Amino acid sequence: MKYFKCGNCQAPYKIDEAIIKKVQVAVNCPKCGVKNIIRFGPFLVVQSKDKIQQFPLKMGKNTLGRKTESSGADFQLEDEHVSRNHLELVLEETDNKLFVTLEDKGSLNGTFNKNKLRLKPSQKYPFKKDDFVIVGLSKITLKIN
Ligand SMILES: [Zn+2]
Repeated sequence: MKYFKCGNCQAPYKIDEAIIKKVQVAVNCPKCGVKNIIRFGPFLVVQSKDKIQQFPLKMGKNTLGRKTESSGADFQLEDEHVSRNHLELVLEETDNKLFVTLEDKGSLNGTFNKNKLRLKPSQKYPFKKDDFVIVGLSKITLKIN
């Protein structure tokens, strides 16, 4: 059994590992009933005012920016406080360990760590499991199941 937390009410619940052969499963929270999509790789949980989104991360470079018609960002947020090319996450594997670094690409409104410190542009910030940053009106957490 593996334990997870509902993204809505934070209630813990367990999942039979036999079904964790897929990249993701959808489970309705036994407490509040909200459908949680659970992914089994590294992914970002983007918590905005009215919704929670989950984005799977790929090895190498992953970009995040504001949603526009011409945006080429891998992850697009509908938030005017987010720059078109806001930040970049790089996933690398060394000695079977996964390392994730986060870099602000010179965004207008910045990227803030959990201590509310603004990351310097081009600073390579080590982004660890369950760590989060604030971008615009969203909280972005790194999840690795
Ligand atoms: Zn719930």
